Amino acid sequence: MSEPNFLQLHRAGELERRVMKLEKLLERCTVCPKDCGNNRLLNEIAACYSGRLPIVSSYTAHFGEEPCLSGSRGAGNIFFGNCNLRCVYCQNYQISQTWKTQRKNETTHEQLAEMMLELQARGCHNIGFVSPTHFAPQMARAIFIAAEKGLRLPIVYNTNAYDSVEVLRLLDGIVDVYLPDLKYAENDAGFTFSKVRGYTDYARAAIKEMFRQTGDKLVFDENGLLQKGLLIRLLVLPNDIAGIAENLRWVKEELSPRPAISLMAQYYATNKAATDEKYILLSRRISEREWFEAISILEDLQIEEGFMQEYESASHYYRPNFTDADEPFKDIRDFQ
Ligand code: SF4
Repeated sequence: MSEPNFLQLHRAGELERRVMKLEKLLERCTVCPKDCGNNRLLNEIAACYSGRLPIVSSYTAHFGEEPCLSGSRGAGNIFFGNCNLRCVYCQNYQISQTWKTQRKNETTHEQLAEMMLELQARGCHNIGFVSPTHFAPQMARAIFIAAEKGLRLPIVYNTNAYDSVEVLRLLDGIVDVYLPDLKYAENDAGFTFSKVRGYTDYARAAIKEMFRQTGDKLVFDENGLLQKGLLIRLLVLPNDIAGIAENLRWVKEELSPRPAISLMAQYYATNKAATDEKYILLSRRISEREWFEAISILEDLQIEEGFMQEYESASHYYRPNFTDADEPFKDIRDFQ
């Protein structure tokens, strides 16, 4: 098994310097492209309702990621509370859009480090930070603490991709696997359905920076577990809202002729998409035809590296319930 990136930085004394630079960004928050400018070190809150300390809504061995991350003993997922986006169809809305409730899940950096060590002791294959963007400095601080106490697992950064390039540069050598969404091919869709400006432009710039760090080669260990690389997730949405063809073309033309793509069929209407007529275009599952169209685009572009969910099972299995923080996912067979 190759060594995770952060250990080298730690030995060189660079990890702590990076953490301090990241924490500096909290003073006038520019941790994500929203650039709110609030002082989070003084617990001033803005668009993501998040202050100085990390908020962890759940941490668990998770079997619903791609097989190279879940393996046989699970991905060691840590689900942060709150978010810098407000997706009207967010499947994790119980923890991403309930900031008042999430205050009770505030934790210390030391406790966050202990969670990682516990997941490692439970045999998880990696540490997967889910929606880490708004807590990137806190995540880095906790990795530093955990490194001192023996953390040896690869770090997975599972992000909506509305990330700041400056922050990603500081994470170079800390993160092993980037797992970004690329949600829309049009900024307008990002504004309508995720309530942020410039989604596509920022996400593409962020993914370019991730690619600069990792290249297009996925590195696996002898058991087929992903150790390093960039795997871009495309969730197929109804009515072509995700702009799959356009995004895949962009990836091929601007990033790499051999990108690793994870194509996802798990969409189902939840949160506002299930109740508000304004979002009627998102009020249903994707049809089989829409799914197979997305697959044929991959084939036409000769994109072969990556993963694909099963159409039949995906939306049925991947329905988290975060009122059970210890075990929000009931079924382990999302991907086959
Ligand atoms: S991380 Fe939160 S406070 Fe900071 S810029 Fe983004 S949304 Fe604003």
